[in-house]
Amino acid sequence: MENLGDEMKKVMRHNAWQDRYQHLVDTVMQDKYVQRFLSENEDKITQELVEKSYAKLYEFVQERRKFDEGSPSMIAPGYEPILFLNYRSIDVTYVPTNELLAKQEADAIKRRVKAIDIPKDVRDATFDAFELTDEREHAYSECVDFVNHYIEQPKIFRQGLYLQGSFGVGKTYLLGAMANELAQSGFHTTLIHFPTFAVEIKQAIGNNTLNEKLEEVKKAPILMIDDIGADSMSAWIRDDILGVILQYRMQEQLPTFFSSNFDMEQLEVQHLRQSQRGDDEPLKAKRIMERIKYLSKEIKMIGLNRRLQ
Ligand code: ADP
Ligand code: MG
Repeated sequence: MENLGDEMKKVMRHNAWQDRYQHLVDTVMQDKYVQRFLSENEDKITQELVEKSYAKLYEFVQERRKFDEGSPSMIAPGYEPILFLNYRSIDVTYVPTNELLAKQEADAIKRRVKAIDIPKDVRDATFDAFELTDEREHAYSECVDFVNHYIEQPKIFRQGLYLQGSFGVGKTYLLGAMANELAQSGFHTTLIHFPTFAVEIKQAIGNNTLNEKLEEVKKAPILMIDDIGADSMSAWIRDDILGVILQYRMQEQLPTFFSSNFDMEQLEVQHLRQSQRGDDEPLKAKRIMERIKYLSKEIKMIGLNRRLQ
């Protein structure tokens, strides 16, 4: 004969299980979404089908509650749990919400702009947020023009712009806004702060990533070289890095933009000609300048220093 104590335990365990099961069933059947789903599908649903689907229905009720409360502990945050009728049971599916889709799209757009060492406010720049003044109108409309033409005919080469103006007039901001607008239409832009890029390129020799770094910039579908001329550069950076990048972009007819405190004339004479060692190298400077001029059109930006406002 079995021990009476064991038998009792079994019965009690069974009862506890029964209670839990009943609780589950009650929770499911009292849920307003479940009730609505059952009444909407009344003609296709049998009691047997409901009983077979209690586990899924329970999962739904739990997840739906978390969804409504905005709880982060959901199985799939951003996805709305929805009941549906499967072949022989009721099942739950998780449908991305409009907010999630909008966020995914916004993230995809952001990923199309590779901004290296560019301030955060510029990364969020848009044409809409661009504060126009008469002085800025010209540069702004040239940028808008470029974007519109590029979107229409991305394969046709168009000169980029060489935005020239003093510190704080909004050159970098305008480049950022252009990159973001292009990203909205699916195009990828790389925006580099040239003096910082030059430093990183030198470091890249040490960790064997020079080639990779150079290729990435050289082949960027749209490249924006920000603040060229801001720091003195070595002959090596000028000829073997900048020169190589520009040469490739000319050959491949890839859109390239610049921003600088110097105008083109000053860039050549006061910056590119002077090597860090103090040598005067007019021919080398001219070669680089020819490429810059082929790739871009000079636009002057004037205005107040916005950083002081
Ligand atoms: P630059 O590159 O010419 O030195 P920036 O583009 O960095 O100048 O602009 C200086 C500051 O002014 C930045 O903080 C930038 O976000 C802001 N800014 C520049 N132009 C605009 C604009 N048109 N609308 C709103 N903010 C701007
Ligand atoms: Mg700048």
